[in-house]
Amino acid sequence: MKVRVGINGYGTIGKRVASAVAAQDDMELVGVTKTRPSYEAHLACAAGYPLYVARPEQVADFEKDGLKVEGTLDDLMEKVDIVVDATPGGVGEAYRPLYEKAGVKAIFQGGEDHGLAGVSFNAYANYSEAWGANFARVVSCNTTGLVRTLFPLDRDIGVKRVSATLVRRGADPSDNKGSALNSLEPSLKLPTHHGPDVQTIMPWVEITTMAVKAPTTLMHLHCIIADLKKGVKESDVLAAWKDVPRVKLVSGKQGIKGTANIMEMAKDLDRPRGDLMEIAVWQDGIKIVGSTLYYYQAVHQESDVVPENVDCIRSMMKMEPDAARSIKKTDDSLGIGK
Ligand code: NAD
Repeated sequence: MKVRVGINGYGTIGKRVASAVAAQDDMELVGVTKTRPSYEAHLACAAGYPLYVARPEQVADFEKDGLKVEGTLDDLMEKVDIVVDATPGGVGEAYRPLYEKAGVKAIFQGGEDHGLAGVSFNAYANYSEAWGANFARVVSCNTTGLVRTLFPLDRDIGVKRVSATLVRRGADPSDNKGSALNSLEPSLKLPTHHGPDVQTIMPWVEITTMAVKAPTTLMHLHCIIADLKKGVKESDVLAAWKDVPRVKLVSGKQGIKGTANIMEMAKDLDRPRGDLMEIAVWQDGIKIVGSTLYYYQAVHQESDVVPENVDCIRSMMKMEPDAARSIKKTDDSLGIGK
C-alpha cells in the first residue's frame, strides 16, 4: 500500500517536493494546500494535484477563480499518513499542534528550529534517526550542502575541524524582494547558525561558519577549509565523493567557471525546472596542504533538500530500513547522478 502524503505550503520548496513525491511508486500525493489562487494553484490543479486551502474562508476566492477546491487543511489531514510542511520559516511551528491532534506525522523544513522536531535529517548521515519518528526536520539548503560533502569525508578520512564561509544568494529567483542590488552584506552575528545546524546531524564535528549575502539568485557558494585527521592526497578526497551521487564533481577547465554555468548545465541535462539537486564541487578547485583540505562547492538552494524530504518520509514511515536503497530509489526516480 502506498504511503499517503500531503504538502502544506506550495511555494519554492513545497511544489518541488510535491513533484518528487508524485514521482515515487511507493507514495501517493493526496493533496497540496495553497493560501491564494495564484498561478501556482492553477498549475497544481492542471498537474492533477488535489488542491486544499489552508483556511476555510479562502475557499470562495479559489472557486471565484475557477479552481476546484477539495477541502481545507483539516480535511487533508484526515486523508494522509504524513505531511510535508513547507510553509515559510517559523510558520511550521504554529502548525505542529494541528498535525499532532490529527495524528499525522510531519516533516518540517530548515526555517524551523531543531527543537520543534527533535530530529534533524540528512539521508546520508542519519537516515535511521528518523526511523518511525512522528516529527523530523530536513535541514536547510546550506546545512544539507555542508553535510553532503563533509559526511563522506569524515567517514572515509576523518574530519577534525571545519571552518567555512558561505556566500549566500540574496533571494530566490522568483522572490519579489531580496538583498540589496549592489551590496555584499556580511552576517554580523558570528559565528553564524550554520555550524551549530550541521552539528544537529554531525555533533562530533567541530565547525564554525561565516556568511555573506550576495546580490545573486542562482545558488549559494561555500568556501570550505577542513582539517583532516590524516594527511591524504587530492585523489583520496575525490574518491570519498565518488560513490556519492548527490555530490556532483564539476570542472573549471571544462567551462564551469561559476554558478551561472552550473545552472545552465542543469538545463542542458534536462533537469525539471532547471534544478540541480546535487551539490556541485569543483574537482579542479581542491587543494591539500599538509592535512588541511580546501574546496569550493555550490548549492542550488531551491532543490537540494527535495530528495532528502522523500527519504525522510521513507524513514519516518518505516518503508525502507536501508538508507542506501531509499537514496537509490529516490535518485533513480528524480534523475539524480545522471
Ligand atoms: P515560499 O515562501 O516560497 O513558500 C511558502 C509557501 O507557503 C507559499 O506558497 C505560501 O503561500 C505558503 N504559506 C504561507 N503561509 C501559509 C500558511 N499559514 N499555511 C499554509 N501555507 C502558507 O517559502 P520556501 O522558500 O519554499 O520555504 C519553505 C521552507 O523551506 C522554509 O522553512 C525555508 O526556510 C525552507 N527552505 C527554503 C529554501 C529556499 O531557498 N527557498 C531552501 C531550503 C529550505
